[in-house]
Amino acid sequence: MHPTLDLTTHAHMPVRLHDSGITIGQTTYDTGTVRITDSASIAISQLVAGWSMCPIRMPLAGLVFQVSKELTSLGHFFPLIRILDDTQRTEFRTRLNSLLQCGDITISYTTATGPHTVPLIMRVLVLGQIVSCFWGRPEIIEALRRTSPSVALFADRQSYERAGGVGGGCYLPHEHRIMLEASRLFEGFYTPIPNVSPFLHEFGHMLDGTHMRLERLPHCYGRMPLMRATDVSLWQKAKQCEIQCYNAWYHKRPPVNGQMPLGHPYVFQNDGEFLAGHWEMFWRNPHAMAQLTSHLFDVFCNYVNQDPREWLSHDYTGYVEGNRAFYQSGQQPWASAMRYDITPD
Ligand SMILES: [Zn+2]
Repeated sequence: MHPTLDLTTHAHMPVRLHDSGITIGQTTYDTGTVRITDSASIAISQLVAGWSMCPIRMPLAGLVFQVSKELTSLGHFFPLIRILDDTQRTEFRTRLNSLLQCGDITISYTTATGPHTVPLIMRVLVLGQIVSCFWGRPEIIEALRRTSPSVALFADRQSYERAGGVGGGCYLPHEHRIMLEASRLFEGFYTPIPNVSPFLHEFGHMLDGTHMRLERLPHCYGRMPLMRATDVSLWQKAKQCEIQCYNAWYHKRPPVNGQMPLGHPYVFQNDGEFLAGHWEMFWRNPHAMAQLTSHLFDVFCNYVNQDPREWLSHDYTGYVEGNRAFYQSGQQPWASAMRYDITPD
């Protein structure tokens, strides 16, 4: 028997190599094919052979890309790709290849034995995300390249901590570096619709650091690079609106219409978290953001010149539901230290 699996329905399933073959989801295969598109497929034996290039748990779509280099398999990680026509796909690939080749955005990978060649799929998950976010404003990628950013990935917790990594991932503004355990690049992709994205969150902080560098500021102000006058004015209105709503809850005077902040108290602790937290939510729950805090949604849409609802049919609802549960629980939100682009009350 030679089973044929469809990538569309299996893309999110975790893969693992065993002596007897490769396990995709719950089933182990030693023969068969995975259909990527109408005209492209890949044999299970090729996936088994390709496993050694990046032998860590990942969703099937990742291993398929690592082996086949078919752009379609990246549609699982960057759903924007699914709505692109042939010309646009070629353009996406050109921009991705340009970032892969130029090396302006340095990516490193450290294992227990020291520095290691970065597996292609890891480089592509970082750089493809950047291409996807700034699909509508490629000049921001050019600006980012000029600031020499870096992304340091680690195979295990010990290597991450030994290098100075803290929390679940971090961005060091003075080194202009994101640090992340490599497994977290794949986290959030074991479901058909992408969920949590530690990289997107840290990349939000990196945008703040990019703005700081380009404008030669002494520290981060919770802004993104190359914001135009309209972006800034929308941003100030949105921040003001959200902090007012948050402070009302903080002072136990919830708005009479019951409106609650979209973000968790975590994102109100300072200007950097406000940016990074909402930036991640914009890509993961754009439908809820557009409905509940349209001012915030408009500022991001305008800034990136793109509406994620066009390619994301459903939100990941985890953040929105968790945050709503927090405010409804009656717990005391914590004091905000946000100070830029808002008028204190
Ligand atoms: Zn953060």
